[in-house]
Amino acid sequence: MLTAVRTGTGACPYGLIGGHLLTSPVSPLTCILPFRASTGASPLHTLRAFVAKLPSFFMYSKNEITYRDALCDLQLKRLRNLMSAVLADNAFYREKLTLAGIRRAEDIQTLADYRLLPFTTKAELSADQTAHPPYGSNTTFSLDRYIRVHQTSGTTGAPLCWLDTEESWDWFARCWTKVYRGAGVTANDNLFFAFSFGPFIGFWTALEAARSIGAMAISGGAMSSIQRLQAIRDHGATVLISTPTYALHLAEVARAEGIDIARGSIQTTIHAGEPGAGLPATKARIEQAWGARCYDHAGATEVGAWGFECVHQNGLHVNEAEFICEVIDPDTGKRTCEGELVLTNLGRIGMPVIRYRTGDRVKLNPEPCACGSIFSRLIGGVIGRIDDAVIIRGVNVYPSAIENIVRGFPEVAEFAVDIYRQREMDDMEIRLELNGGASHAIVDAIAKEVRHILGIRAGVQTVPPNTLPRFELKARRFNDHRHLSNHR
Ligand SMILES: [Zn+2]
Repeated sequence: MLTAVRTGTGACPYGLIGGHLLTSPVSPLTCILPFRASTGASPLHTLRAFVAKLPSFFMYSKNEITYRDALCDLQLKRLRNLMSAVLADNAFYREKLTLAGIRRAEDIQTLADYRLLPFTTKAELSADQTAHPPYGSNTTFSLDRYIRVHQTSGTTGAPLCWLDTEESWDWFARCWTKVYRGAGVTANDNLFFAFSFGPFIGFWTALEAARSIGAMAISGGAMSSIQRLQAIRDHGATVLISTPTYALHLAEVARAEGIDIARGSIQTTIHAGEPGAGLPATKARIEQAWGARCYDHAGATEVGAWGFECVHQNGLHVNEAEFICEVIDPDTGKRTCEGELVLTNLGRIGMPVIRYRTGDRVKLNPEPCACGSIFSRLIGGVIGRIDDAVIIRGVNVYPSAIENIVRGFPEVAEFAVDIYRQREMDDMEIRLELNGGASHAIVDAIAKEVRHILGIRAGVQTVPPNTLPRFELKARRFNDHRHLSNHR
């Protein structure tokens, strides 16, 4: 059996954080003071936010798992349950696991045994769906058991279709209730979903979870940005749920329309779909624009809603009661502190993923969180995609690093980055849309910051207002043109 790994030594525990007892009750003051300081909200607004947060002070109650050993036992028990089901009836995993020499769920007695299981990749799932259209062979039950079908956004390749049973849909929604609890969302809240509710799974399960916590859900599907702002005002929405990019876009539209959202009803924003809400500069921009507290969340169509922020907002927790989490070196597959996130979902038996390489780049924080949870914590949430990094003049550059720099300048309304190759040299250009009245001195300031932080020179220029694209989902601000031509 796994031995609990003590924390506080500074050594990376490879995702096995804890062994410590819940000893840190959450102080109301520690929750509310940072909010006041970061948003400059009015005393009334601060008081409302304080009251809204009250339930989350008790989010880690006696019923929470407080020992790492107990958590591992729970994970292994649920994993064996999942393995029994897939070995019996899931063609995709039965073949994969049998090839790896696993014939019985009882073969997995420890997490060390678990880590011998083969990884699952998105390319494998995609190839399986191509070979067995439309849903592939990763189905544990006959098709009449499934009640929902969704698909990935297709940002990285052809969309994957994903099926849910009644049980797994409930499970997915339950994972979202953890996100709500972390953000202090209660039955008293009105939740506005700035989301199109198309085939992409996005915030569908967040909508289900709103129902299960008794909150009011307001759909923002098929609406323009102005209609969404009006709906937020008309329904007195207290929580905005969207991508971070879209929250900033809505704020921009509000400014143009003369709507003061910072003094409006929204107290909390929750974001997923992109890394932005975990980036300090983007988070601060959203909090200031909305006069609200901004929470990060992470999930994926084929995995589930795995990440949530607690009231301390010091990194993204992985919900390890529902997911087994590892961080690996993407090249060697060995465990490390910073690398690719690998997850197994424990409650989606109808169409599971086992040791799934998410492609998300993350960095573990080995210190225990002040909220008392023993769940692993990722610094800055999802930092980016493993394959996002571009090499410019020999320097590894992550789009999130550039975003964090640019968003640090409130004068910038939108931006885009282009990478070219000219005479065998890489050039990076940043195009900026500035808010009205912004000084062009900012162009030099951003170029200087990029040089200072990333160690590369970038051309920075401004473009006229409203010429860069706006995004509701999965912003694409980085364009690498080097594969097209050796010349601009
Ligand atoms: Zn925490």
